[in-house]
Parts: sequence; C-alpha cells; structure tokens
Amino acid sequence: MICRKCGKRKATVNISSNPYCQGCFLKVVDKRIRKTLRVDYNVKIRNTIMLLDDNSAGAIVLKNVLDNALRNYNFKVLKRINKSYNKIVIPATLEDYVSDYLGAVFRGKGWKKNKKEIFPLRNVLDAEAEKYCMIKKLKFSKKERDKYMLDIIKMLDNIEKSYPGVKFSMMKSIMVMEKL
Ligand SMILES: [Zn+2]
Repeated sequence: MICRKCGKRKATVNISSNPYCQGCFLKVVDKRIRKTLRVDYNVKIRNTIMLLDDNSAGAIVLKNVLDNALRNYNFKVLKRINKSYNKIVIPATLEDYVSDYLGAVFRGKGWKKNKKEIFPLRNVLDAEAEKYCMIKKLKFSKKERDKYMLDIIKMLDNIEKSYPGVKFSMMKSIMVMEKL
C-alpha cells in the first residue's frame, strides 16, 4: 500500500484505515494537534500554558510537539495542576475525551469542561500517540484508567472494528454539541 499523503513512499503505518509512511504520519499528527490548539482553543503565542505530565504516550507526544514546533509558547511541564496558568493542557486522547463524555451520558449526568483546561489530543487516537512515540523512540508509560473508562473504551474499540472511523465521528459530533 502507498502513503495517502505523499503518494510515493510505502505506507507502513495504518491506523483507523489511514495508510501513511512514517514521515507523513508524524506530520499529520503534528498538524492535527497544532490545529486543535489554534482553532479549537485559540491558544496564542505568549499564552502561558502548562502541560499536565502523566508520562502517558499522549503527554510525551504533546511535550515533543510543544518543544519542537511551538517554541514560541511560554509553556511549562508540571506533574500537578497549578491554577495560576491561563491554559492547562490535559494529555487526554480521543478515547479519553469520548469515554468521559459517554460515561456522563450513561450515568444520566450533564457534561461540562473547565474552561481553563484544553485537550489538544482530542483528535488523536491512543494508537496514534503510541505509534508516534515508537517512531521517535520516546519512552512512555501505560495510561492509568479506571475500570468504567476501560469498559467504555473496549466498547468503542469493538464498534471501531466494524465501522472504521466511528471514533472520529463521535468526537466530531461531541464538538458540534459543545458549540450549541
Ligand atoms: Zn508519505
């Protein structure tokens, strides 16, 4: 299979039916994160932002992207939330974001996010964050999640197997509802 972005190199990464060569895959993930920061969260140069570092693949990817591409941002990596920052970057992947939402739906609860907290990885899958780390040879630890979250993610994985792309569709739909 050929990479769908450059149309030249062999596709060696294929997550959610998106075949890419390694170089294009890294670029695509990078671009998606930067777009989410800029468009969804209106993060500007010189905003003070902190990254909550839990050593998960997502946190490592964010550290990498913020370090390399967004050198101009005034950001700090901290292990614990410090409320003095304008924006707090939560390393939650698409699966975390969607399962958090579904968890609220299943419990019959409302769902509201703290305005200071931003989720630049909400358009990045777990598998994509892990692959990004593996290609760049960055070490990460397995994410700790409670059983309820894990059960919902398992359910999502099952639906995704029959309907590739459904996770991205759910994320899109949540974003539409957030704007209502
Ligand atoms: Zn390519």
